[in-house]
Parts: sequence; C-alpha cells; structure tokens
Amino acid sequence: MNAYTLIDGKAAAARVLVQVRKDVDSLREQDIQPALAVILVGCDPASQVYVRNKILRAEEVGIRSVEHRLSADTSTAQLLNLIATLNADRSINGILLQLPLPAHMDELRALEAIAPDKDVDGFHSQNVGGLSQGRTVLAPCTPSGCLYLLEQTCGDLRGKHAVVIGRSNIVGKPMAALLLKADCSVTVLHSRSRDAQALCRQADIVIAAVGRPRLIDASWLKPGAVVIDVGINRIDDAGRSRLVGDVDFDSALPHVAAITPVPGGVGPMTIAFLMKNTVTAALAQHQAQRSQSEAPCHSIY
Ligand code: NAP
Repeated sequence: MNAYTLIDGKAAAARVLVQVRKDVDSLREQDIQPALAVILVGCDPASQVYVRNKILRAEEVGIRSVEHRLSADTSTAQLLNLIATLNADRSINGILLQLPLPAHMDELRALEAIAPDKDVDGFHSQNVGGLSQGRTVLAPCTPSGCLYLLEQTCGDLRGKHAVVIGRSNIVGKPMAALLLKADCSVTVLHSRSRDAQALCRQADIVIAAVGRPRLIDASWLKPGAVVIDVGINRIDDAGRSRLVGDVDFDSALPHVAAITPVPGGVGPMTIAFLMKNTVTAALAQHQAQRSQSEAPCHSIY
C-alpha cells in the first residue's frame, strides 16, 4: 500500500475554532458581542441534533446564540415575519435557517428574505452571485470547509484539475466556484454526465458530493489524487447502522495521496465555518455601521 495522508477534519475544525475564539475575544474588547439566531421549524430529529450542535459550538467560542423553534404548521408568512424582525435587530449578526423546511413552506422565499449581510449559510442569491463573480462574500460553510482542508493538504491549488461530483446549490456549485477562485481548472459532474469515471480519473483533486454510499471507488481515481468525501450516508451494515461517505474508502485508499474519512472529515468543518462566517458578519456589520456614523452629513439645503 502507498503512503497516504488521512485528512483529519476534527483537528482542522479545532484549529479554525481556536482562531474564531480569538476573533470573538478581540471583538468583545471593542464591545461587540457576535450573535447567531438559529431558526428551526418543525421537529425533524436530524435537524434538532444539527441545531443543538451548532448552538453548543457557538457557546464554546463565545458567540451568543438565540434559538427560535417554530411549530411544523407555521406558515411561510409567519416565518418571513420572524426573519424580518431578526434582520432589523442590530444585536443579531447571523441568521441560520435550518433546512429542510416542512414541505408546505416556500424555502427559496425564506432564504431570500434573510439580509445578505446576515446570511451566514451563504445561500442568498446576492452571496451566490458574488461568489460566482469571484468576490469575497459569506460563502456556504461545507464547501468553504472543504477548500480549507485542500489548502492545508495541498498548499498551492493553482492550476490543479479539480473534479466536483454533484451540482447541488449547497455543496457542488459553490464548491466549484471556490475552486475556480483558487485558480483550479474545474470539472463538475452530475447524474447526466457521460463518461463520469473517465473524466474523474483525470483529476488531481476529487470532491465527492453525491449522496450515494461508496459510489466512488478506485476505478474513478488517478493514482495520487487528493479526495474530499462530503457524503454522509447512513447504511445498514450486517444489521448495524453506520455512516459511510460517497467514496469507497477501502477501495480508494491504495490510490490516493490524501483522503478524508467519514465520519471525522468534512463533517466537523461545516460548523466551524458557520462560526467563522458569524464572526465575519459581525465585524462587517460593525464596520458598516461605523462608516455610516462617520460619513459626513450632507444637508439638502
Ligand atoms: P443533492 O442535493 O442530493 O445533490 C447530489 C448531486 O449528486 C446532484 O447534483 C446529482 O446530480 C449528483 N449525482 C447523483 N448521482 C450521481 C451519479 N451517479 N454520478 C454523478 N453525479 C450524481 O446532495 P447534496 O446536498 O449536495 O449532498 C451530497 C452529500 O453530501 C450527501 O451525502 C449529504 O448528506 C452530504 N452533505 C454533507 C455535509 C457535511 O457537512 N459534511 C453538508 C451537506 C451535504 P443531478 O443534479 O443531475 O441530480
């Protein structure tokens, strides 16, 4: 077996969170208390666990968190009212709407209602558009975490060929935009791609965000590829429930230079970058308020 690097997402997330904690402390010295509002509609068990983890992590790094739990029969109009209140609340810097929403709600409308400068998930079309223009915006947390892992593992990404498998709005597309911004050559594959395996075998970097357990095996990989496995799939393994990625880890291992495990790879990075985005949002809002108050007052007379 070749020598490979196991990319430790837990350790990387811990490093990001140490820096976030330092940034929070320095904001507090300027009397700024970063705060994150988390909205959970309904009682989906997985969403409840995600929200609890986000709130715990926020507390650990000194970010104030405010939880809004709405019943499953909440109307879109009621949710929009809450978002409008949080948008107007200067003590709130980030708004996270836990997805998925109950089927009767208009998810896109709710995400578009969040003020772009408080959109810590990076899903608002203004942030999506800004990212695709290569601007610095609040970018989606999971792909931002993947990019961090790649930079830590590969160093300079310029000129590398990255293949992103999956084109969802929350992972695949923003991942491709971030990799382009890092000067990679990017290929995006999806369920209608022809010769997906052959295209993937040309990649220096493979990002698997498919949602199909262990789809990507050795036959998809060039020797020495760096593989980031975003997939989180629960499978029944001989009567035991366990999590696996979109990559067949055992098959891939002899071919890769580096790979993320599941769990313990990309997963911890998502929350770490949510905290980072919240602090970035707090700082940007504070700077915008300060420059507004310092701007010369123009008289209309
Ligand atoms: P998604 O919205 O279901 O998108 C899956 C994508 O994979 C689609 O673009 C689909 O193509 C493509 N696809 C499906 N089968 C394919 C095939 N055989 N070959 C090539 N492409 C194929 O999923 P997602 O939200 O992006 O999530 C992907 C995975 O990441 C899931 O396992 C999810 O649980 C995990 N995830 C993890 C985190 C984390 O924090 N670690 C965060 C988010 C998601 P079409 O567009 O043509 O349908």
